[in-house]
Amino acid sequence: MARYNGPVCKLCRREGKKLFLKGDRCYTGKCAIDRRSYAPGQHGQNRKKTSEYGLQLRAKQSARRYYGISESQFHKYFLMAERKAGVTGTNLLQLCESRLDNVVYEAGMASSRAQARQFVNHAHFTVNGRKVDIPSYLLSAGDVVAVREKSKATDEFKGIAEANDSRPVPVWMEKNSDAMEVKILRAPEREEIETPVEEHLIVEFYSK
Ligand code: SF4
Repeated sequence: MARYNGPVCKLCRREGKKLFLKGDRCYTGKCAIDRRSYAPGQHGQNRKKTSEYGLQLRAKQSARRYYGISESQFHKYFLMAERKAGVTGTNLLQLCESRLDNVVYEAGMASSRAQARQFVNHAHFTVNGRKVDIPSYLLSAGDVVAVREKSKATDEFKGIAEANDSRPVPVWMEKNSDAMEVKILRAPEREEIETPVEEHLIVEFYSK
């Protein structure tokens, strides 16, 4: 499926919640959800009763859009989550969280997940010392993600590192700001994942 390249604030308005797709702007009064908290389009302000299926669909779409994952890849993660021991919904979110692009964003090495994906695509990162340019690369405990030596010196990375250094890093990773690297300590617990979705609705959606 082609990647969505349109205005991302419309995605938040469609889901009726903040998906934090625009970096710092999401925390300012310029956020479109704060200014127009209804769905985009001509009929966006019409009140609609949402069916059970509709709720499940919106939960799935919210999670996909939050992480910037295609439908086919997200479904693949669901099948992987189902096969793993434990709670399927939590497994699904843990898989999304362990993507390289998500870790780069959460570690404050990019201002948004979209920017993180672009940086990974442009091969600015290594995993355990080897160049990795696949945003969906899944990380495990012990893996170390670092900005490549030649990228560290660029103004772009210096600026981003300074701008995001005060952003709190999730407790399941350990950041070394001076070395511009982050180590995965373990998989996140559900309560440590801030994704604004009810994952049980996603499980119900795919279990029909
Ligand atoms: Fe736009 Fe961010 Fe607000 Fe979403 S949360 S509407 S991406 S500014």
